[in-house]
Amino acid sequence: MSKTVRDYIRSIVDFPHEGIIFRDVTTLFADARGFRMAIDQLLTPYTGMNIDKVVGLEARGFILGGAVAHQLSTGFVPIRKKGKLPGAVISEAYTLEYGEAVMEIHDDALKPGERVLVVDDLLATGGTAAAGIKLCERLGAKVIGCAFVIDLPDLGGRRLLEDLGHEVHALTS
Ligand code: 5GP
Repeated sequence: MSKTVRDYIRSIVDFPHEGIIFRDVTTLFADARGFRMAIDQLLTPYTGMNIDKVVGLEARGFILGGAVAHQLSTGFVPIRKKGKLPGAVISEAYTLEYGEAVMEIHDDALKPGERVLVVDDLLATGGTAAAGIKLCERLGAKVIGCAFVIDLPDLGGRRLLEDLGHEVHALTS
């Protein structure tokens, strides 16, 4: 039987902490067929949707988002962790399991009314993606979709984003 995207992803037990099973997508990225399959499947719902910019969330969202942007012939905009972007930024704090994190976007990276697609590798609690979406919306952009390779629905991220009015596209759980 032919391989699916899921078949290229491996699980690493006890990373980064004991008790966590980390979904490692580097094995997907490293395989030419797997990577192409993932990119093609991520962007399929958005072809012909007049996307202006793909927004990638640090860090694996850059790898996926860059390739999706190339295929959709759009620009690419990074959302980064606090302190990494060189220009003027706006920031959004969100809650992690232990403590808080901050994501940032250049304050001139998106124009009001631009249609954006937000891309990351994995949706868990949805905190990272919700912060990213909020940053896009604060710049006046319209988030047309949110695309992930992996959705872990038990952690509530899909419900959170849907409650915020956003459609979630994921390739596997
Ligand atoms: P959330 O904010 O939805 O709880 O967590 C999602 C973010 O954490 C994403 O940016 C994702 O890259 C990262 N993340 C959390 N757990 C995993 C995992 O098991 N595998 C990978 N590849 N990323 C993870």
